[in-house]
Amino acid sequence: MILNLIRRNEEMSRSDLTVSTGLSAAVVGFVVKDLLEEGYLVEHAPRDSSLGRRPVPLRLNREGHLAIGLKLGRDRLDCVLTDLAMEPLEQRSVPLNDYDPKAVVGCARQAVNEVLRSRNEPNRPILGAGWTMPAHLDTRTGSCLRSFRFGWENVPIGTMLSKALEMPVFVEDDTLAYAQAHHLFGLGMQQQSFGVFAIGEGLFFASVINDQVWRGQIGNAGKVGHIMHQEGGRLCECGRHGCLQAYYSVTAMQERWQERGNPTDLATAVIAQDPAALELVRDAGATIGRHLAQWNTLIDHEMIIFGGESTSFGDAFMGPMREAFDHYYYREKAPSIITDETGYYWTAGAAAVVVQHVFDGPHVN
Ligand SMILES: [Zn+2]
Repeated sequence: MILNLIRRNEEMSRSDLTVSTGLSAAVVGFVVKDLLEEGYLVEHAPRDSSLGRRPVPLRLNREGHLAIGLKLGRDRLDCVLTDLAMEPLEQRSVPLNDYDPKAVVGCARQAVNEVLRSRNEPNRPILGAGWTMPAHLDTRTGSCLRSFRFGWENVPIGTMLSKALEMPVFVEDDTLAYAQAHHLFGLGMQQQSFGVFAIGEGLFFASVINDQVWRGQIGNAGKVGHIMHQEGGRLCECGRHGCLQAYYSVTAMQERWQERGNPTDLATAVIAQDPAALELVRDAGATIGRHLAQWNTLIDHEMIIFGGESTSFGDAFMGPMREAFDHYYYREKAPSIITDETGYYWTAGAAAVVVQHVFDGPHVN
């Protein structure tokens, strides 16, 4: 509780913490002493004041610990070394053409060794490594139960990585990790509840509820890309026909564009103002915006963060999406949609999977 208050408020004194938490000054003093000793907090010199001695400001010791993030994507493995606040210190991207788990673990070890060697910081403790991929993962055992995109089934990826890297490894679906990154130190860091909506290779709508990324009973929450769009329609990666993302993921839109005989990249055609490309993207934006209004009605977020590769279509996609969202939302004023065009929080999400263990209470869902 104390760490989370300081994470959000940047700087607080012991007496601020006593007021905010309702805990006694003795308990606050005891916990703060521990957190200072463990290197999670730092004390700053009190500001001079004519009124006498001022309280000592406490801040998060962002530099005190390191985390490693590993994100498995379709053709590459991204590796990042961050501080406690997920600020990137070193990054590597390794091209992949073999998705065999052993080969992937070998690449991960190489990438981690490279970032650690180039940074060379033997004195800063490493909290562990986070592993993210689009998959159904058992976060307790670290096992990948199933990943359609990589053809994995019951792969004990957490254990394999932990042995290879000689450190604790935590696993999470990449979209839920993306939401976690925004919750901890991203665009949602001041909110206790918000939605995270993204379209890239897949399509999802994740929720942070009361400071917890909502995983659902088995970790499949938010996978709205598999909502049935057209019975018997296009083949989806899940093996069914007609899922929403078989039409409107960026990958699917690109395929539909090329099936029409267009040799160019869809995003390039959109930037070049090609009328047919604009029409395809506009239609996608309008359809998705209408769905988003339905999904958010169910959960009632006041803020939605929008990310993923579809942000590269710019206003051609986002304009119709926002318009449809506002139009179909039942309230007069629809919640705000904030766009994340950085792409960084995807890789940072893998580090967030580790960092969250510092901030999470015992009530992790
Ligand atoms: Zn599907």
